[in-house]
Amino acid sequence: MSAEADCIFCQIVAGELPGAIVDSDERTVSFMDINPATPGHALVVPRTHAADLMAISDEDLEACTLAARRLARRMDEALAPAGFNVLNSCGTAAWQTVFHFHMHVVPRYADDPLKLPWIPGPGEPGAIAEVAARIRGDG
Ligand code: 5GP
Ligand code: ZN
Repeated sequence: MSAEADCIFCQIVAGELPGAIVDSDERTVSFMDINPATPGHALVVPRTHAADLMAISDEDLEACTLAARRLARRMDEALAPAGFNVLNSCGTAAWQTVFHFHMHVVPRYADDPLKLPWIPGPGEPGAIAEVAARIRGDG
């Protein structure tokens, strides 16, 4: 496993910092978030340091995604939430604050007060089509 000096999640993976670990396998470790958005909020990280979604290997991303679902299933049994948000923030502009890739698994409850800062509103069809073409590379 390659660790990065001063990375708090590498230190949790290595057992050098305390973490309430709830799941692990050969590629991933999952532990409770110290600032839970809702009761049960946990993080899934790769054992090998990768800063973000752009940097993580395909194999570790797959392992983290499967670990997030495994955790959600386990929480479903243990906590009986009404649903989940599974989130990744990539980059400072997207609110990433810890630069070791992680997926948030946030159990949701019928009347929980969590507000994600996203208020959906209708898009302009022409603008959606134009940006879709740019992403495809034919714009
Ligand atoms: P981000 O903002 O990068 O998407 O999420 C980072 C998350 O890591 C935050 O939800 C924050 O509460 C959590 N966090 C930051 N430092 C620690 C720590 O030392 N231990 C644990 N367990 N979680 C942490
Ligand atoms: Zn790290």
